[in-house]
Formats: sequence, C-alpha cells, structure tokens
Amino acid sequence: MIIVLKPQVTEDEIQHIVEKIKSLDMQPHVSTGQYRTIITVIGDEDIIREQPLEAISGVESVKAIMRPYKLASKETHPDITVIRVGDVEIGGKNIVLVAGPCAVEGEKEVIKHAIMAKKAGAVLFRAGAYKPRSSPYSFQGYGADGLKYLAAARQETGLPIVTEVMDPRDVGLVAEYADILQVGTRNMQNFNLLKELGTINKPVMLKRGMSAKINEFLMSAEYILSYGNKDVILCPRGIRTFEDITRNTLDAGAVPVLKSFSHLPVLCDPSHAVGLKDYVPAAAMAYLAAGADGIMVEAHPNPEDALSDGQQTIDFDQLVDLREKLGMIAKALGRDIY
Ligand code: PEP
Ligand code: MN
Repeated sequence: MIIVLKPQVTEDEIQHIVEKIKSLDMQPHVSTGQYRTIITVIGDEDIIREQPLEAISGVESVKAIMRPYKLASKETHPDITVIRVGDVEIGGKNIVLVAGPCAVEGEKEVIKHAIMAKKAGAVLFRAGAYKPRSSPYSFQGYGADGLKYLAAARQETGLPIVTEVMDPRDVGLVAEYADILQVGTRNMQNFNLLKELGTINKPVMLKRGMSAKINEFLMSAEYILSYGNKDVILCPRGIRTFEDITRNTLDAGAVPVLKSFSHLPVLCDPSHAVGLKDYVPAAAMAYLAAGADGIMVEAHPNPEDALSDGQQTIDFDQLVDLREKLGMIAKALGRDIY
C-alpha cells in the first residue's frame, strides 16, 4: 500500500499517520522528496484496506499494491484452474463449445434442440428454465418443470447442462439438475446468491455484469470461491456503452486481462454481447482469438420462432460453420476444439 500525502502536509499530520499505521501492526516507511512525501506501508493489505485512510488529514490518495481478490487471483494461485464436467475440461487445451436456445421451450422441444446441438458439435447444452426478462410480461421460463425437461435432454444426448439460477432459494433445486449453474449478468452482484453458490459442489458460470468493471467481476468470483466452491468459470458477455447498434459492446479486450489477473477459466458469450445474429460469429471468433477457453452461443432450429432472444440466435447450420472456424482459430493458437 502506498499513501501519497498532500503537498502542504504538516509534520504533525505525518506523525499521526505513522502512529495510526503502527497501531494496525503494519510498518510505515516515510520517503520525503523535494515536493511530495509518500508513506509505503508493509504488512497485510487486507487489514489496512478496511481503514478509511483518505479521511485522515494530510492524505491525498491511497494505492493498493495487491489485488483485493485473493482466491481468484494469479498472484496467490499461479496454477491455472481446469474444471472437469463429464468428459469435458474447461480451461484446458481444448476449446469448449456450448450451445442451445436462450430458453427451455418445452420437453420435446428441448430434447430436439439438445440432439441438434450435439450433432452440430457442441459438448455442453445451454437453455434457461428461469429467464431474467427485462419485462414482467415477457415469457419467464418453465421454471422447475424446465429443469426436468433439461434432465430429459441430458438423458437423451449425454450432454451436460448449463442453466441459470436467479434466486438463492432455488440454488439447491437447480444444483440437483444442472451440471453448471449460470449466474446472469443482472445477478453478478447478488451477493446472497453468490454466497449460496459458494456452498454447492457444482461449477458456477458467472457472467460479467453489463456495467461491471473487471475488478468488480473478479470480486464477485471471489465471493463464490470464499464460500468454498473452487469451480468458477468467468463469462464475459458484453458491456453497456454509448453504442446502441449492438445490444452490448463486445468486451473481448477483457479476456487477456482476466487471463493475466486470474487462474479461472474464461468462457465467453458472444450472443448477448452483440445481440444480433449476423454479428455473433465474428464476436465468437474475436473472443476465442483473445484467449477464451470456450464459447457459449444461442442456437435454435428456427430463430424467428424462438421464445426469447431470437434476434441474436443462430441456427444449427450456422453453428456447424462457426465451429469449423473456431477450430481453425484454436489450431492457430496451438489449441484444439472438442
Ligand atoms: C442468457 O444466457 O440467456 C442470459 C439471460 O444472459 P445474460 O444474463 O448475460 O443477459
Ligand atoms: Mn438469452
């Protein structure tokens, strides 16, 4: 931690700050330059982080050296995390393709969609039973019945299931059915949900909040990790900017940053990032080229009839084509695709 003092700081104020730091069992080192004095603080940053040092007279700014997340950080956990789901490893050499419709659309429908996703080369199947819709009048999902339909789709295809949980009270139930539990963008900072997910033994795919900074995203991952669940997958899915042609702005630039700050696998969602089907393949390729460990894409046999997010949904022929391109990019990066 480095404390930068104001140019007009007095000797008494410096002394007061030094005493305060010592009282916290930390060691202050005062460096006085021609114009400025700084205090370098050695010790456990977590203790001092909780102190409102900027409230002390004479302090101009405080800069942390360590990142505030410990368990999610590469600083304290240099080995990368690889998460195994069935026969698939997420975060290993091979790229993972996850596909399926936005929502579970009924039992026979979801079985059909899972069969098609498998045929197109997806190794995990996605579909939402609980849908976080912006309007209360939009289709809200099949809920608990949808989970049963998903289990039937897994039974039929063998594909592990990724599905969203929105409410801490549903975590136990969703964990009984899902292979990976998804946290949606709107819930990235639902701390009660994150704490609950920290207690289960299924992987969690945490989507980036649409207005969340990278550090906030990693702090949310830290919540889940700190409650005991080590299997967290980070999912960039676009962020809100001034641009409104695309639904969100592609945040492919976050991928190498996440990979350099954290050991957790990164699986990206180009569908919600751009929100228009024509731009989804390019967005998927950009995420992959930026270092993603996998791509999750919305796919449906007839996107125009999809119960939600049809405008950003590709069909299964397009998925086959996309998978081939992703495979070529993976090869160029010295990786492969499942
Ligand atoms: C989804 O994956 O269908 C979804 C609702 O995503 P997000 O939370 O990223 O909007
Ligand atoms: Mn969707």
